[in-house]
Amino acid sequence: MAENPAKTMEGKHIGAGVSSDCATQVIGLDLNILGKKVNFSIAVSKGQATLADIVPLARMISTKITDIVVESVCSNGDHIPCRKGCATCCSHYLVPLSVPEVFRLKEEISHAPRSQRESIWQACLLTTRRIFSKRPPKLLMDQTDGPSLVGPVDLERVSDWYKNLKLPCPFLHKGLCTIYDQRPLACREHFIKGSAEACKGERDVAEVLRLPVQMPNALAQLAQDFEDTALEAVLLPLVFLWCEQNRPRANKTWPAAMMVKRFLEIVKEMASKNYTEVVV
Ligand code: SF4
Repeated sequence: MAENPAKTMEGKHIGAGVSSDCATQVIGLDLNILGKKVNFSIAVSKGQATLADIVPLARMISTKITDIVVESVCSNGDHIPCRKGCATCCSHYLVPLSVPEVFRLKEEISHAPRSQRESIWQACLLTTRRIFSKRPPKLLMDQTDGPSLVGPVDLERVSDWYKNLKLPCPFLHKGLCTIYDQRPLACREHFIKGSAEACKGERDVAEVLRLPVQMPNALAQLAQDFEDTALEAVLLPLVFLWCEQNRPRANKTWPAAMMVKRFLEIVKEMASKNYTEVVV
């Protein structure tokens, strides 16, 4: 399916707002997701862009991929109970964010009404205190200057530790996500196959769907390539603290076209590598 460039960029071009040159170029992406061909045309400004600027594009591609995977699972007769309003996993699940997402979320929350901003900061501060009062594992604290995580293996171990804390997400209020439209990609891509009871641990075992491209990993790799850092992930409640410690990184820019091209290469590599591995 060919996408309209303006629609593809949710009405914005990558790099818009930071460029003095409004000329654009269109970059294409062809993916094969579970045997279904998906085409995107992305309009890119010839100006500069930050890592945060790439996030709307990542969200859009992620939505398209998850739609295809979910449709495929359901057409096989399996059930996916995940839907807006269900917050079972939000009450204990570790949500890791890539660096571009961290900067984007911080930016988006800074535009929220003051009262909402303040309650979000308060909730994150409380959760941060509880995390640090529970003796975080060494691999959470020692490997970088800030409270970030490094590497997929570490993430798995920290995830087990985090589940035991039973900390609800600070963005959860009265059973609803207060940042639903801006929620992290890890939340957007978390689907389980089976019954709602299995998800709550009441009976059976919930099976987490594996997607051919995990967009937080694609963004983390992009940040690693452009910033020449380790592969980083940041715990959702620690986003504001981490941003404070890494403030200069938020404003770094690169040519938008170069960043989009590299990002699409990463997505394509992941999609083709995982195509044969994903079982739905
Ligand atoms: S950000 Fe929203 S969707 Fe994600 S865990 Fe928190 S409340 Fe749930």
